[in-house]
Amino acid sequence: MSAWFEYPQYHWKKKQATIIGGGIAGAQIAWHLCQKNWQVTLIEQRKELAREASGNPAGVILPKMTAQPSEGETFYVQSFKYTLDLLETLEKQGKQLDRQACGAIQLAYNPREIKRWKALKNRKLSETLIQLLDEKKTEEAAGIKLHPEKAYLSTYFPQAGWINPSSLIHALTRHPNCQIILQKEALLLYYRQSQWQVINDSGKLINESEILILANGKSLCDFEQTQFLPHMPVAGQTTSAHASTFSEKLKTVIGHEGYLTPAIITQETKGKHIFGATFNRNNKHPRIRLDDDTENLRQLSRYLPTFVNSLTRIESAHAAVRMTTPDRFPYVGGIPDKHFYQKQYHDIHQGKQWKEYPKAEYLPGLFVLGGLGSRGLTTSAYCANALSRLLNNELDSDSKTTLKNCHPGRFIIKQLKRNQL
Ligand SMILES: Cc1cc2nc3c(=O)[nH]c(=O)nc-3n(C[C@H](O)[C@H](O)[C@H](O)COP(=O)(O)OP(=O)(O)OC[C@H]3O[C@@H](n4cnc5c(N)ncnc54)[C@H](O)[C@@H]3O)c2cc1C
Repeated sequence: MSAWFEYPQYHWKKKQATIIGGGIAGAQIAWHLCQKNWQVTLIEQRKELAREASGNPAGVILPKMTAQPSEGETFYVQSFKYTLDLLETLEKQGKQLDRQACGAIQLAYNPREIKRWKALKNRKLSETLIQLLDEKKTEEAAGIKLHPEKAYLSTYFPQAGWINPSSLIHALTRHPNCQIILQKEALLLYYRQSQWQVINDSGKLINESEILILANGKSLCDFEQTQFLPHMPVAGQTTSAHASTFSEKLKTVIGHEGYLTPAIITQETKGKHIFGATFNRNNKHPRIRLDDDTENLRQLSRYLPTFVNSLTRIESAHAAVRMTTPDRFPYVGGIPDKHFYQKQYHDIHQGKQWKEYPKAEYLPGLFVLGGLGSRGLTTSAYCANALSRLLNNELDSDSKTTLKNCHPGRFIIKQLKRNQL
């Protein structure tokens, strides 16, 4: 491992952490630490948990596959498997999750997707994970006629499905070791006498601890300590529609450019399909917009016109921001000491292979779990596992790889290697 991605061994005084953000990232790291006998305090600015990006009524748990094996694909597949195991564990513990493991079909809807379908078929991957379906099998798996004039090849993930993120967040945070503080916005972070002090907008202390984990979604880089992390907010909206006698026969999630759930079976959104989502770059303050519902409907009718024609009452579902990074890997790990990086690694662009560089230095006790983009429901648990292992000095090889790919200092290193900093 390169010196700039190394972490030290930690010697914490107490197994105690403050987490900022009550979305899926905050809930996952809270649960993973509580399972390791840590005490955590979760600070959320809204009245309830799961109101922002993680407030969607139903999101899809699905890996992202590339035509050829890649680090990105491995990350998504491992995250997917890890998340499925975790959901089962929670259910075995008696936790209520609103979800359906109904399978997901990714349509090969254009020449590029068909090329990817062929490449994946040639790889002879495990059928438990992924099946490459022909046109007839695609319709059988979906349970409905997809298009009056054309038929689709598809990639089928039998274990995939949808989940109501709020139900998962509540299941994860209902833990005797997890204290939740609602309606407190963390505005400033001060490091004093080996403690991180979290300060609100009236200058009052919300909480303090040796370890602070930032998991606050779209506002991740609003703090002085995180401003340097490259990021892009991408707003999006989902739409809902009441199921019709035709549409309720849909058995699986359908992925095209966006996604569509079968009729939801749980209380809150019972009898509705959720579909979307739109992508609006550089918008950090989205509002529900009719235009976004129109766009979601237009997109869906491009691929499933009969389905759309059968729908009645269309309603807006949820609008929020996905926090995205330039390489689409999240940020997981310690916040680097940027000045140390600039001073110690300034000449790495010269490629002096013989030179021994000092190990990376970080802001003491400050960590991050964010930048989860549009797949946070699939990846957050796996990332939280890596971060909790880091904090406990329990790294295994998978966590080491995750922490390298998701290292918050990777873009400083990229810039230094190009001599651009
Ligand atoms: C429309 C849409 C559809 C999506 N569909 C899917 C999908 O199908 N599958 C999938 O895997 N992913 C999907 N995603 C992405 C997924 O929802 C996100 O990756 C994930 O929810 C991000 O979780 P988070 O905890 O990082 O952020 P959030 O859920 O936004 O949580 C951050 C929390 O921090 C709080 N906070 C922020 N700043 C402060 C502060 N200063 N003090 C206190 N609290 C603070 C916020 O109020 C918020 O509750 C979708 C996203 C959108 C927007």
